[in-house]
Amino acid sequence: MVECPPRTREVGGSSPPRSTIPSSKSVKSSIPRTGGVKVPEAKYIWLDGRLVPWAQATTHLMTHSLHYGTAVFEGIRGYSSAPGGGGELNVFRLLDHMRRLEASAKIYGFPLRYSPEELASATLELLRANELHEDVYIRPLSYLGYGTIGLVFSEIEPHVAIIAFPYGKYFHKDGLNVMVSTWRRICQEATPPAAKVSGHYVNSVLAKMEALRHGFDDALMLDSRGYLSEATGENVFLVRGGTLVTPPPSAGILEGITRDTLIRLAREEGIPVEVRDVSRHELYVADEVFLAGTAAEVTPVLSVDGRTVGSGRPGPVTSRLRALYESVARGSDPRHPEWRTPVYGRGT
Ligand code: PMP
Repeated sequence: MVECPPRTREVGGSSPPRSTIPSSKSVKSSIPRTGGVKVPEAKYIWLDGRLVPWAQATTHLMTHSLHYGTAVFEGIRGYSSAPGGGGELNVFRLLDHMRRLEASAKIYGFPLRYSPEELASATLELLRANELHEDVYIRPLSYLGYGTIGLVFSEIEPHVAIIAFPYGKYFHKDGLNVMVSTWRRICQEATPPAAKVSGHYVNSVLAKMEALRHGFDDALMLDSRGYLSEATGENVFLVRGGTLVTPPPSAGILEGITRDTLIRLAREEGIPVEVRDVSRHELYVADEVFLAGTAAEVTPVLSVDGRTVGSGRPGPVTSRLRALYESVARGSDPRHPEWRTPVYGRGT
């Protein structure tokens, strides 16, 4: 195991030599400058059991995960029960996310230094230390550090970071125009999409950037068989004749926690749910289509490949589930208290 050296080290007090090679490339490209979300700095990042000041939570360039994509991560949201202030901050399905982190690591055989319960406690500690009370995004990341070069990671020290910062909407539009990507979703025979592994996201990046370049807001991907899989960072739902339809895990999806939440809430509301393979043309004739994910929450899709979905406005089932999801996550609807972990213990 090799410890990461300090970030800058001057040998013998002299400055390191400067490179004389200038960059001949312009970084300006045709890639649209939209869609990214600036990250507001918080005070601390939780790193391997310590609270480290935000700017000091860095890693060495020889970090294994940076070269080979060998990190697992989660995206979690915390919601204020009173967005105007004075309420409780509730983390949504905290332990379920940490369990999925553990499952992702297990699929690839990566070591994870902490149990889901320990990581859940660490998250609460971090949110309190950062004095966060508004809506937040939480990013646990377990990565393989600096040690040996090559794919074998048995000699490399694993690290866990938890980052949390204030966060609003992921999509700044009330409805999306999406395309079916020319890129297929990664297939489970090669890299199991059920694991939330950093390296998998190059697939989503290709599809997302292609969509933005063509003037769309996001992309839907088909699986290797040609059936609907999911969007770049969201699961997808259709409404057909009052039934909610969503692709199964065998279509190469990440089994989303928002997807699970919506399936359960829909069934409780008496909305029929079908988990089945979906053909591409069904997107064109569906009454409603929406994306679902922790960051995206429930976001209506207004058109697919230039074909208007339903009336071209968010449909009634989408709107109902969207409102229900928000009220359950915030705690203004008291159902499913087991999904909300209060940070400050004031109750919902
Ligand atoms: N699919 C992919 C590829 C994702 O990155 C995400 C976001 N984690 C989802 C689906 C939705 O999962 P969840 O609802 O758990 O955020």
